[in-house]
Amino acid sequence: MLRFDIITIFPAMFAQVLDESILKRGQEKKKIAIKVHDLRDFTLDKHRKVDDRPFGGGPGMVMMPQPFFAAVKKIKGRRKAKVILTSPSGEPLTQKKAKQLAKLKDIILLCGHYEGVDERVQSKLADETISIGDYVLTGGELAAMVIVDCVARLVPGVLGKAASLKDESFEGNLLEYPQYTRPADFQGMKVPKELLTGHHQDIEHWRQAQSMVRTKKSRPDLLRKAA
Ligand code: SAH
Repeated sequence: MLRFDIITIFPAMFAQVLDESILKRGQEKKKIAIKVHDLRDFTLDKHRKVDDRPFGGGPGMVMMPQPFFAAVKKIKGRRKAKVILTSPSGEPLTQKKAKQLAKLKDIILLCGHYEGVDERVQSKLADETISIGDYVLTGGELAAMVIVDCVARLVPGVLGKAASLKDESFEGNLLEYPQYTRPADFQGMKVPKELLTGHHQDIEHWRQAQSMVRTKKSRPDLLRKAA
């Protein structure tokens, strides 16, 4: 069982995404658990304030360290959880990284907002900082959902067929080959004949070649790693 604890000022954002489909079944099967916590429950003042102006000036508000430290202390308790801060300045999230995280038992995700989070959260509280891509989001909530989603599906027993993981994109640094289903002819757009032969070896060859073509076209950087 892999447990995720998410700390956020917008707890209501999560249920619709994480309590549906595969992640819902994963929770029902007790392969994963997802708990969402309101950061404001860990503030000390009566206004439940979580942010303040940046030292040194500049636009926007920075999230204060105290609520995050209090939340992690309470939620972590004596467990050995890995604390991950979401941030555009973190280590990029990759399939390889997701596989590493899927081996853990306990992950606590911290969601920033506004201009970001006081640096002491990253340097002293978080074990790791993860970015989901080279762009800036309004908050860490979507990033946390992306991390939970791609990690959870790698936990054994969450996906229906373990085989669905085998040929996926990024395995061996290649993108997945094109997939088709019925009908074989849709409004004149035909399924490649190689797939209709029933000849396993030919199909395998065609798929490998297509994987290469695709990767070369959209992700030449991956192909260099594959070689
Ligand atoms: N001023 C910051 C961006 C803050 S965005 C900077 O320039 O780096 C507000 C919050 O959104 C961040 O604290 C983080 O939790 C989240 N966030 C934004 N972009 C993200 C990304 N690419 N990956 C992960 N989290 C991100």
